[in-house]
This record gives sequence, C-alpha cells and structure tokens, in this order.
Amino acid sequence: MLQKLIAGNWKMNGSLAANQALLTGILAGLAERAPACQVAVAVPAPYLAQVQQLVAGSAIALGAQDVSQHAQGAFTGEVSAGMLGDFGVRYVLVGHSERRQYHGETDAVVAAKAQAALAAGMTPIVCVGETLQEREAGATDAVVQRQLAVVIAAVGADVARLVVAYEPVWAIGTGKTASPEQAQAVHAALRTQLRAANAQCASVPLLYGGSMNAANAQQLLAQPDIDGGLIGGAALKPADFLQIIAAAA
Ligand code: PEP
Repeated sequence: MLQKLIAGNWKMNGSLAANQALLTGILAGLAERAPACQVAVAVPAPYLAQVQQLVAGSAIALGAQDVSQHAQGAFTGEVSAGMLGDFGVRYVLVGHSERRQYHGETDAVVAAKAQAALAAGMTPIVCVGETLQEREAGATDAVVQRQLAVVIAAVGADVARLVVAYEPVWAIGTGKTASPEQAQAVHAALRTQLRAANAQCASVPLLYGGSMNAANAQQLLAQPDIDGGLIGGAALKPADFLQIIAAAA
C-alpha cells in the first residue's frame, strides 16, 4: 500500500525564530517515533533556505506554497520553479483556494503552474474545492472535476506525477471539517476521473484538507480514497502535527 502523505501548509506565518522552534519540535517527535508516512512542509518563500537546512537529512520534504507559471523575466514579485529547485523544493502547492480567491488565479493559470512545477521536476499538489454556496447548490462534483479537468488536459501523460488535494473552501481555516463520508465521496469521484484520464492515475495520491486536526485525522485518513492530508493551522503546532502524522501510520 502507498504510504500516506501529510503536508503542512504554513501559509503566511512564521519567522526565523518561530520556524526553528516549530521544526525543532517536529523533528524531536520524529526522532522518537519515525513516521510511517511521507511528511512535507510548504513554507513561505523567504524561509526556503532556512528550512532546507533545518530539514536536511530528515524525513521532512520541503515544499513551496506557489510558483510562477513563467520561467523567468519581468514578473516582479514572482518566484519561478527553477528558483524553488535551487532550494531543493520537492512539492509545490498550486491552486490553493486562497490563491484562487485573493489573487484571481483561474483554472488555466493553475494548470500552467502545475506544468511549470512538473517541468522543473517537482510534484505539484493541485488544490481543488467548492465553496459553501456551490456545495449547497449540489455542484460539488462538477466544480472540483472542472478544476481538475483543466489540469489533466494541460499536463498530458504527466498526470500520473500529480498529487491532488481536495479542500472544500468552507472547511479551510473555519474549524468546520467535511465529514469522513463527505470527503470520501468527493475523493472517490476524483479517483474515477483520474482513472478515466489515464489508468496509471489510480495511484495519484488524493489528500484531504480543511480543518484536519489531531482529533479528526484518524477517521478522515481511514477512508479508502483519502491518501493523506494537507494541514494548515494544525501544522503550526508540533504536538498536533505529530499526532496527525501518527494517525497516518
Ligand atoms: C489549508 O490551508 O490548506 C488548510 C487545509 O488549512 P486549515 O487546515 O487551517 O483548514
């Protein structure tokens, strides 16, 4: 069976001192009990060098929270996949709902970012998810499948190299979690969509994200089509993040 993947999304949180304290706590926990899953942290770009050093030789892989779809040039403020590669970045979030919502990222932009990450040898974690209004309108599957379809069409055979994260927008940072049954139903639909695109995609990891925490992780991760978690708030507390990692064993 594929090992699960637990990825922390630090969002725009941290400082040199706070990052060191957080990772010291997580690494101490992992030294006591080696993880039976894959672990990653997606950190703010200015801290990539710091975190690269802190996690070197450990079980924690380095991730970034965004990437430019462009390779280089006059794109002030952007960070290219090549630049992320210089710091040993392995995973890149693309299409997080906060990027879609606050930075106007369209499905096409998200797909171009996934392509840029793949071209640089990284694994994009493609985030999809519906708003509360869309869920209440019965449009959940249609929305997440539309978001994923654009990426599938853009990346071609590389679809098997993706990670997909289902993150209902209404569950992110709200303390409201999708029930294990709700999450499993969407994951099963995404799995079917991926399998239809390419038989090898049956093994694309499908993460759940949205207020996953130490208390609810085990039940969510026990669902047959939930292959891991994308964790925001709880990834900033060593004890909570370690409990989620333990729940993924
Ligand atoms: C996220 O930002 O990807 C996320 C899942 O956040 P939270 O766990 O805080 O809901």
